[in-house]
Amino acid sequence: MQSFPGRCHCGNVALVYETAVAPAETEVRACACGFCRRHGALAVSDPEGRLRITVADPKRLIRYRFALGTADFLICADCGVYAAAVVAEESAAWALVNVNLLDARAAFTSPPLVMDYDREDEAARIRRRKAKWTPLAA
Ligand SMILES: [Zn+2]
Repeated sequence: MQSFPGRCHCGNVALVYETAVAPAETEVRACACGFCRRHGALAVSDPEGRLRITVADPKRLIRYRFALGTADFLICADCGVYAAAVVAEESAAWALVNVNLLDARAAFTSPPLVMDYDREDEAARIRRRKAKWTPLAA
């Protein structure tokens, strides 16, 4: 596994993305939803990897929900950076990271795939996230 640290602009949200997939081989996804387009977000994840998110001051973290409301989109309330999205169940959680936060973002060179998940219902959406997103370390 390789570790890829990253943080929001002010540092309130820090994370480490761990994966055995080389950055240049990693699928980079540009979700076409209105939220991701407005942020210019580029998502990466690895179901065999691990993501650790550390929030210095949880009071300065926004957990934004929209559309089906099945995931928390983590936004730093101080600097406004969209860091990651998390879908959680009682005993497990999965997340994707916005590659723009990673120190090594320039190494993730795959051309972004434009993803349109509009037609998914809630069950399909949760199923896809569990299959493709990165297990979140507790
Ligand atoms: Zn911040």
